[in-house]
Amino acid sequence: MKSRWNDAEAAQFTGALGPRVYTSRLLGRDKSLVLHGGGNTSVKLREKDLFGEEGEVLYVKGSGWDMETIEAAGFAPVKLDYVRRLASLPSLSDPQMVNELATHTLRAGAPAPSVETILHAILPHKYVDHTHADAVLSISNSPDGEQRVRDIYGDKVVVIPYIMAGFDLAACCAREFPRQASKNAVGMVLLSHGVFSFSADARESYELMIELVSLAEKYLQAKKAWSIGLPPAPAPGFQREAAAKLRHDVSAAAGFPLLCRCNDTPRFLGFARHADVARISQGGPATPDHVIRTKPRPMLGRDVAGFGAAYREYFARNAKQAREPKTILDVAPRMALDPELGLAAFGRTAKDTGIVEELYEHTIDVILRAEALGGWRALEDRHTFDIEYWDLEQAKLKKAGKPPVFAGEVALVTGAASGIGKACVEAFLGRGAAVVGLDRNPAIATLFARPDYLGLACDLVDVAAIQAAMDAAVRRFGGLDMLVLNAGIFPASQAVKDIDAQLWKSAMTVNVEANLLVLQACHGLLKLAPRAGRVVVIGSKNVPAPGIGAAAYSASKAALNQLARVAALEWARDGIRINTIHPNAVYDTALWTEEVLASRAKAYNLTVEQYRKNNLLKTEVSSKDVAELAAEMCGPLFAKTTGAQVPVDGGTEKLV
Ligand code: ZN
Repeated sequence: MKSRWNDAEAAQFTGALGPRVYTSRLLGRDKSLVLHGGGNTSVKLREKDLFGEEGEVLYVKGSGWDMETIEAAGFAPVKLDYVRRLASLPSLSDPQMVNELATHTLRAGAPAPSVETILHAILPHKYVDHTHADAVLSISNSPDGEQRVRDIYGDKVVVIPYIMAGFDLAACCAREFPRQASKNAVGMVLLSHGVFSFSADARESYELMIELVSLAEKYLQAKKAWSIGLPPAPAPGFQREAAAKLRHDVSAAAGFPLLCRCNDTPRFLGFARHADVARISQGGPATPDHVIRTKPRPMLGRDVAGFGAAYREYFARNAKQAREPKTILDVAPRMALDPELGLAAFGRTAKDTGIVEELYEHTIDVILRAEALGGWRALEDRHTFDIEYWDLEQAKLKKAGKPPVFAGEVALVTGAASGIGKACVEAFLGRGAAVVGLDRNPAIATLFARPDYLGLACDLVDVAAIQAAMDAAVRRFGGLDMLVLNAGIFPASQAVKDIDAQLWKSAMTVNVEANLLVLQACHGLLKLAPRAGRVVVIGSKNVPAPGIGAAAYSASKAALNQLARVAALEWARDGIRINTIHPNAVYDTALWTEEVLASRAKAYNLTVEQYRKNNLLKTEVSSKDVAELAAEMCGPLFAKTTGAQVPVDGGTEKLV
């Protein structure tokens, strides 16, 4: 492990907290040290209050901040003397500890100080750095882990047995640190948890962390336990309906829809097919830091009921020893190891599934290296239970409140690069869905840069391209709950007697046949949607009220309308609802070029301006108006409606 320190970069971080912010970010960049909000750092500064009285302030990483991107505002300033004294109390409950930290924070609006704040306070050094380094975990979670740690570091580190984070751990360190620390001590190893380094200088504290972790890495290398290959496993070919079925079953066990992210790259597939996978994966996690996101262990294969039964047993066994009564959260796994699918990671958001995948990728390294040292030793069940059902974590869950209406669900939108399609992507993302956008325009890939969006360039008249897009969508999000058929073309105006055969054909191909192909590709997935599938078809006012010169368009949209109606009849038995929106006068779309607009206006003997608001309400209809209705049609408001056709057109005289 190399130091990432760079003088020029460091110089950009000014102010009293500058060096603290910089070296925290350096730690955060190294994913084998800290992952996703894990780890924490602090600095002790002398500051004057408004009366000119000087006191020591501990700036400690606040919860909700990620080390890689932390800023000065991400550190919570707490009264050092007071917080340090807390460690001398005989006991302190976790909620009490959180209360004391919050009421001794010196800046209104500061984030909640880390639950490891007291630990930072009791260490006498100005800078304190804490990570959950993979290499140190591999060693401490192997046979004779503690002895190995002592052999590697000698009197350089203080060694603390495993105790859950919070007051008890801090109190133990407060007792053990002065007892064990020699004048050579530059760090502290918490077995099955992580490592601390400290110094009077920010750079030195950071470099010491790198040095301590490097010693662990060198030890693993010397023991031939560093680069552990897995036997190559041929990729079995992605089975998207198997993945969607698994997501369906896991969501049912959880009681709410979950996304599922599948990864069958050689590392995950190799681990899932490891001869000893049952033993090495079922022990438990590498560090308590992971339990909340991953649950204690992955499911093996796809036996969701079996996993739930085992989880109930684990709960019953451990809940008896808990001080407070606990209620079971849910019995669904948060990851599965499957010999065909590789790793499947479950979560309510795409960010969560990405985190589970990354955590487990590191866990695989930690496990395989510990195995090479003689055998992987995971955290015991009673410890993982304490973390999973920790008061503080339960309080966080309660605080998180009600999730958005489409949390854990997946929407697919065709023709999503612009106009109504793009507005639909926004409407569904805004309601918490993960969204797959398809479009012929390659710009679709980068339309939004966020983990819950996947943009795929796809020609919807190409069956193979649709299949590939569906595979990519299910690999990323696990299935499909909602489908918006929006892609379409508006051919140039032609009188019936003059219609060009090619123009007629392309209207039918894009506006009818492409939608049929997408429906066919999606049916099996929609059937497996945890809360039943929903389809919204973007039709047209031209279906009930066709326009002069628009025969190809009107006929193709009418055919699509009939297709949707028949699908609503046939798919009702699968619980799938199909409703149609008939928009009109939506001019902020790619269809409505200036040319088309002028030609349509002319067909009605109107000016462009008159044509824009040519409806009963004399109003303009926007893409967003249509998209919001499309999203609502997939929500609870339309839960009992299928086969409906709803206009969004400002009112059409002939139809009212
Ligand atoms: Zn920690």
